[in-house]
Amino acid sequence: MAAEYDDDNIFAKVLRGEIPAETVYEDDQALAFNDINPQANVHVLVVPKGRYVSNDDFGLNASDAEIAGFWRAVGLVARRLGLVESGYRILANHGANAHQEVPHFHVHIFGGEPLGPMVVPPGRGR
Ligand code: AMP
Repeated sequence: MAAEYDDDNIFAKVLRGEIPAETVYEDDQALAFNDINPQANVHVLVVPKGRYVSNDDFGLNASDAEIAGFWRAVGLVARRLGLVESGYRILANHGANAHQEVPHFHVHIFGGEPLGPMVVPPGRGR
């Protein structure tokens, strides 16, 4: 069973408009906004509008329409950011080992420059 959703998490507040965000895309299923602490020239977060803690929760409990709409939005955002030709990386952290900080499922989109190795081995941080 997935973890319980916390309505006070920071992305829930962004979705309710209680915290400002630099929105780059919005539709019925997803909101995309610039990461507050960018790790690449382009670093955008895409979040589903539904209350899902993580990828695990989303995959188990979201409807087919939510899942399809969300992943279509991820691709659309990357396209609108002009990243299709140059390339981009998508990443989602789940749980402690991945250092998931915000317990509302989200996908990071990185791009705008060469991104280096896919995973930095432990103890060899950049
Ligand atoms: P994760 O470790 O995958 O949970 O990533 C959480 C991300 O949310 C980090 O990259 C943070 O920089 C980002 N973040 C936290 N608060 C905000 C905010 N208010 N607006 C935009 N990005 C945020």
